[in-house]
Amino acid sequence: MNIGLLAVDSNYPNLALMKISSYHKGKGDLVEWYNPFDKYDIVYMSKIFSFTPDYGQYMTNTTQICKGGTGYDISSTLPEEIEHIKLDYSIYPSIGHKTAYGFLTRGCPNKCKWCIVPKKEGDIKPYMDVEEIAIDGRNELILMDNNILASDHGIEQIEKIIKMNEGRMKKIKVDFNQGLDARLVTDEIAKMLSRLKWIQQIRFGCDTPKQIEECEKACAMIDKHGYKGEYFFYCILLDDFDESFSRVNHWKKKGSSRYLPHCQPFRDIGNKSQIIPQWQKDMARWTDRKHLFRTCEFEDFEPRKGFKCKEYFL
Ligand code: SF4
Repeated sequence: MNIGLLAVDSNYPNLALMKISSYHKGKGDLVEWYNPFDKYDIVYMSKIFSFTPDYGQYMTNTTQICKGGTGYDISSTLPEEIEHIKLDYSIYPSIGHKTAYGFLTRGCPNKCKWCIVPKKEGDIKPYMDVEEIAIDGRNELILMDNNILASDHGIEQIEKIIKMNEGRMKKIKVDFNQGLDARLVTDEIAKMLSRLKWIQQIRFGCDTPKQIEECEKACAMIDKHGYKGEYFFYCILLDDFDESFSRVNHWKKKGSSRYLPHCQPFRDIGNKSQIIPQWQKDMARWTDRKHLFRTCEFEDFEPRKGFKCKEYFL
C-alpha cells in the first residue's frame, strides 16, 4: 500500500505520525510525506491545535483519509497495536541521531482551568520505561510528560536514569519539556533532579502568583544540591494584565541569566473565534526573545512604530 503522512499545522516532530510510519513500514508498505501529485491508499492527517486552519486542499488522490490529533478531536487515540510501537525517526531527518522523544507517564491529577491535559488524557498513569525511549544509542531524551513528579512510576524512572548513568561514558541527558510541578519538589526530589544530566534547562510551570514562591523554593533546593544550570518558567497569560506582568517580570527582576520565563497566551480550545489580546501578544514577544527580555524593560519595548508598552500601564 502507499501511505501518505500529513502534519497539518506543526513542524514539531509528530510522534503519532512516526508510529504510524513504523507500523506501515513493518507491514511492507511504502510511506512518505503527503504529496498532492501522488496517489495513496491511505492519507493520515494529524492536526495538533484547534485554533489553526485545516488543510485547505480537497483530496482526490487517496482511497481513505484518517484524521487524528487534538486539533480534530480531543479524544482521538491510536489503536493499541500502533500506540506502543517504536518511533520511525527517519521521517524527520533533522532529528539528530542522539535525540529521542517520548513520554514516561501520561495525564495529570490536577485540573488547571486553562489546560486540556486532564480532559484529553485523564489522571496520571505509567506509560513507558526509559529503556523503551533511549533506544539505538539515543541518549538525549525529550520527555513530554505533563506532570512526571505526580507519579510514583515517573519518580522511579528518574531514579532509573540516574542509576543508568552511573559509570556510563555516554550519559543520558533529559529535558522534561512540558515543565515540572514545583509544588512537588521536596528536598529528596531536588537532590534527584540535581543529579540528572539536563540537555539545557530545568523547566517549571509558573502559572499563578503562588507558583512564583513554589518555583523559588524548588530552585533554591535544587541549587543547594549543586545544580548550576538555567531554569525556564512556563507562564500562561490569563486575563489579568497586572498579575501576568508582575509574574513574568519577577524573573527579570532577579537580574540573573539563569532564570528565563516563557509566555503562552491562553488558548481556549472550545472557542474558534477567540481573539488573543494585543497586550498578551506583545508580552509574549518581549519575553520569548531572550536578548530583548534581558536588555529592555517591558515599558520601553516598542512592538509597533509609535507604540511603547508603557501605555499598557496608564
Ligand atoms: S497545567 Fe500542568 S499541572 Fe495543570 S492540569 Fe495541566 S498538566 Fe496538570
